[in-house]
Amino acid sequence: MDFNLTEDQKAFKAELTDFFLEEMKQAPECYQTSTPIEATYDTDEGFKFHQYMQKRLAEKGWLTMAWPKEYGGKEASIAEQVIFNEVHSYYRVPGIDRFGVTMFAPTLMLFSSEEQKARLLPPIARGEVQYSQGWSEPNAGSDLASLSTTAVLDGDHYIVNGQKTWTSAAHRADHMFLLARTDPSKKRNAGLSVFNIEMGLPGIEVRPIMYMNGSHFYNEVFFTDVRVHKDELVGTEGDGWKLTRATMNFERSGAGAYAALLRHFEELLEYVKTTKRHGKLLAEDPVVRRKLAIIYADLRAGWAHSYMIAWLQDQGKMAFTPAAASESKVFNTELKQRMVNFATEFMGPYGQLENSKWAPLGGSMVEGYQAVIGSTIYAGTNEIQRNIIAWAGLGLPRIK
Ligand SMILES: Cc1cc2nc3c(=O)[nH]c(=O)nc-3n(C[C@H](O)[C@H](O)[C@H](O)COP(=O)(O)OP(=O)(O)OC[C@H]3O[C@@H](n4cnc5c(N)ncnc54)[C@H](O)[C@@H]3O)c2cc1C
Repeated sequence: MDFNLTEDQKAFKAELTDFFLEEMKQAPECYQTSTPIEATYDTDEGFKFHQYMQKRLAEKGWLTMAWPKEYGGKEASIAEQVIFNEVHSYYRVPGIDRFGVTMFAPTLMLFSSEEQKARLLPPIARGEVQYSQGWSEPNAGSDLASLSTTAVLDGDHYIVNGQKTWTSAAHRADHMFLLARTDPSKKRNAGLSVFNIEMGLPGIEVRPIMYMNGSHFYNEVFFTDVRVHKDELVGTEGDGWKLTRATMNFERSGAGAYAALLRHFEELLEYVKTTKRHGKLLAEDPVVRRKLAIIYADLRAGWAHSYMIAWLQDQGKMAFTPAAASESKVFNTELKQRMVNFATEFMGPYGQLENSKWAPLGGSMVEGYQAVIGSTIYAGTNEIQRNIIAWAGLGLPRIK
């Protein structure tokens, strides 16, 4: 496998780097210390900058570069997408509504009516809208198929009742893609359907759930007799599980994670090279050196694995290795947890500080320490991913 970039790819990477460095000069301060997701959805100024970047990326044709040309995309190669994801993640740039651009839009392309494609895809492509993902409920997370929110047809409208929870970005969203039970007589994954919901409809109430570090990222969303026009049903009634399985695959591709980790790692490296403890640089401490070496080796290994996935995607061979995306998700999220755990540990009591002039690296490690816990839960918990690795990757019996 040749990992070297071609001349065109090098030029693309340089163009992206220049562009992001320039644009991030005007990013609000929250983008320096918080994770990009929190910086985007927590504060008004963070979200405003995200919306600005959405439009800038759309103007450049990068927001939808992976989309087919017939929907205004560039059909960019997997290599170009990987380069984009890496540079975009490394510089912690917002501007991509992954719920709309990378999850719901491809689902619409595969399953929705021509009218829906014409109405819903262009605003996503222009970076004008924000979506949220209405799947999880208080009693349906890993076991999503047991959800109980209902959407019952009454004339030209479905009447939606129920509750969603952990709904990221719902407080900023214009739309939600909702999974609901259209046939309450059916159990589990039968009788489910997908809807495009306007968040402003009467009967929808969004309540914040504050994250442990005090930021507002996700919500609970209540539906009380919400009237949704039947034109908002996506695909065929009762086919919701098939559509949702497709959307899940778009959710779990995971490229770019290692570039974001590298940025954190480089900041840590700089910190240990310039910070003294008991008269000696941390970089001279054998425990610090050994742990950093282990993390770096794992980071490079995970990165190589992500290139293998990109290569498989490029060759159209992902179907032969269905566990690869799960392997990547488990490895990169747990590596980040190890990195920030270790950082806050060797920073000592200073590592617990945020919003203080004494907080090392602007408090970004303790912020990450709290934020990263969610990463082994969302997009399918790591236990569920390990189950997939066991049966789909290793051929072990599937336990029901
Ligand atoms: C930061 C964050 C953002 C999120 N954003 C969204 C969003 O935007 N939209 C949305 O719909 N949801 C969202 N979620 C919800 C997320 O999808 C669920 O939390 C997740 O699917 C787990 O469901 P649960 O919380 O109900 O836990 P449960 O499913 O109840 O699991 C509890 C524990 O049991 C384990 N477990 C469950 N089943 C098995 C099994 N078969 N084998 C082994 N272990 C098992 C789990 O791994 C977990 O450790 C988000 C979650 C987080 C943390």
